[in-house]
Amino acid sequence: MKFKFVGILGLTTLLGAHPQCLLDAYPDLVVSANDQSVTLKNGTVFPYRTSSSKTTWDEKINNADLETQLSQSYDSGGIDTPPSYLFDPGRLRYQPLFQSLYGKDKPSIEKNLVTIEWPTLKGNRKLRVNRSEGVDKKLFAIGQEIAKLPHSDRIWAEGAATYEYRVIKDTDRLSMHSFGIAVDLAPSKTQYWKGEATSETAKIGYKNTMPLSIVRIFEKHGFIWGGRWYHYDTMHFEYRPELLAPKCVSKTQ
Ligand SMILES: [Zn+2]
Repeated sequence: MKFKFVGILGLTTLLGAHPQCLLDAYPDLVVSANDQSVTLKNGTVFPYRTSSSKTTWDEKINNADLETQLSQSYDSGGIDTPPSYLFDPGRLRYQPLFQSLYGKDKPSIEKNLVTIEWPTLKGNRKLRVNRSEGVDKKLFAIGQEIAKLPHSDRIWAEGAATYEYRVIKDTDRLSMHSFGIAVDLAPSKTQYWKGEATSETAKIGYKNTMPLSIVRIFEKHGFIWGGRWYHYDTMHFEYRPELLAPKCVSKTQ
């Protein structure tokens, strides 16, 4: 019986999130969303599916459209089972959506940045975060909750870094740190897939030391964790509520 139960939820993981998840996550930006198009309040219409070829993994990651962005459901369950081959929910991104949400270029993004206080074991430090969608308030609340965890967990939230306008190494894609909606924690003690492989489709072994207690706090506030990706980036969290809305998320463990 238990096996059957896991099987049903496992199937949910295979099904992607629905266009409605964008509307639920960004109600101030998106006015309608279906499997043809996504319309924004300012009249911009994004196709849900673009015509560019997305057959290979490299094409998917470099030319993701909104359908591709939602094609893998985020799994907010336990962290004992490594993500399966090329399972990267949230790592496939349609960049124009994030430019509409947080700023179309560096000057526009920087106009939206505010400074928040982030508690550390040595006192507060300041982090620059995007105020659109209330990301600044959410990250502030996360910092306050982490500060209540035991010392052995809090050490994993040290060395926080947020805004930096840059492309992802070896790609043309903007890092989510460029929008001021991502945070890296404990950079010297966490794990990154590229330490083991340089090709996107290489077979790599999963590694993680980030505690689940910290991951759960971020997810509660709409941030996904890069440790749930096959291409693991265990220091990395980013605000992606379209993957965490109750009817859009799955939970297999
Ligand atoms: Zn990062």
